[in-house]
Amino acid sequence: MRPEDFDDNRSFWAATAPPDVACAPLSGDIVADVAIIGGGFTGTSAARELRLRRPDLGIVLLEAKTVGNGASGRNGGQLLNWINGIGTDDPSLTRRVWDATLHGIERVLARADAATAAGRPVRTTRHGALDLYTDPRRAERAQAHAAHLNSLGIPVQFAAGADARALLGAEGVAGVVWDPTAGVLAGVDLLRATKAELLADGVRIYEGTPVLRVREGETIALDTPGGTVRAKALVLATNGYTHLLGYFRGGVFPLLSHVVSVPMAAAAWGAAGTFSDDMDRISYGAHVPGENGAGELVFGGGSNTSYTYRYGGRTGGDMGAAADTAVRKKLAHYFPGAAEPSHRWSGVLGITLSRRPSVGRRGNVYWGLGYSGHGVTLANLAGEILADLYVDEADRWVGLPIVHATEGVRPFGWIPPDPFRWVGYHAYTAMTGRSPRRA
Ligand SMILES: Cc1cc2nc3c(=O)[nH]c(=O)nc-3n(C[C@H](O)[C@H](O)[C@H](O)COP(=O)(O)OP(=O)(O)OC[C@H]3O[C@@H](n4cnc5c(N)ncnc54)[C@H](O)[C@@H]3O)c2cc1C
Repeated sequence: MRPEDFDDNRSFWAATAPPDVACAPLSGDIVADVAIIGGGFTGTSAARELRLRRPDLGIVLLEAKTVGNGASGRNGGQLLNWINGIGTDDPSLTRRVWDATLHGIERVLARADAATAAGRPVRTTRHGALDLYTDPRRAERAQAHAAHLNSLGIPVQFAAGADARALLGAEGVAGVVWDPTAGVLAGVDLLRATKAELLADGVRIYEGTPVLRVREGETIALDTPGGTVRAKALVLATNGYTHLLGYFRGGVFPLLSHVVSVPMAAAAWGAAGTFSDDMDRISYGAHVPGENGAGELVFGGGSNTSYTYRYGGRTGGDMGAAADTAVRKKLAHYFPGAAEPSHRWSGVLGITLSRRPSVGRRGNVYWGLGYSGHGVTLANLAGEILADLYVDEADRWVGLPIVHATEGVRPFGWIPPDPFRWVGYHAYTAMTGRSPRRA
């Protein structure tokens, strides 16, 4: 494990979040019922949901840097429905996925509202998310698909022309599908509020505490620089960093994504909350309203250069000037008058070849990872699923094809190791302009 794998979070979200007091690193050996590695949405929601179901459990959360330092504190802010890698052709599966993710969105927003009411403000909006279509034929197909979703009772709406422009003041839009139930979440705000709640509820949180090695057994030992945690169960909540611990190295790969934020008035942006475009190298944006009609647009993606796989699965560091230029070029394409960025940062996604995540269990090891860019809702939902698996009350998740709790099931496909992975990734993306994927 290299220190540079855990660089500092310089996102707009971190820079503008309520202040936080760091927890001390682990010093000495301790025991717990459940040890959680990772202080992002997966780890904190798992701790919270376990605490709700079993107030008696001794829960320890270990975070290499600070809570919210990973993707949960660096993302595009989109609180979305749907699960990447699961199509929407099968009506009953479509409705199942919609119901699960809508439940996830509502639970996150309820948690944010409760934290705000308790004096720990969490910035959210609920103005919906747009799927943006840049090509008239794709827009036409999207309109037909929206009608199909409506027939299942899913309230998305297609818009084009002036109606689309009122939702999003961007150039080059052939049409949009608006999901009015989606939102925007300032992840660092929610994580800091949850951290305070967990500490008050007796969860032991150690920051600045990288787990260097996991030794499995009936009691699992987690070695850190300051001591060892011995626990009866382990939750891997390490998403794009999971390979660093030797888990799922062939299944989940770390992909870096570069992001900027620019000041943008609410009137210039439009009425929606977020958008993602229809390109394989997806562009995404979320608007955070400020005071007196001001605001900030968080924007990322858009080209091969603004996403990258780094040799050896490195997860940290600045993606550099080329990525920054590429993101800004795409930003100028959609928003020609955009201001200069006020913040720029990179973060690590956990990507699978099928794009499907997995939330599961093998013996006393639990995991939730591989959200493939859709984890703001899903990683928070994972906490609920993991806690239900832990207490053996997970019937409500049966049939949701991201839950893997049967012995012997391999949740992900296989991706060859480096150097083949690095060469393959870069050759494929250079030749096709797309990211490798397999159904
Ligand atoms: C740039 C970017 C934009 C994104 N935009 C969106 C979006 O708009 N909408 C959406 O739904 N999803 C988005 N995502 C994805 C989403 O943010 C993630 O799927 C989600 O936050 C994952 O949460 P997590 O808790 O599983 O992982 P993380 O938030 O990455 O947390 C893992 C934590 O584990 C810690 N850790 C790792 N290894 C160790 C170790 N050995 N010891 C101790 N601690 C360790 C890390 O420091 C980190 O804090 C985006 C991701 C990125 C990077």
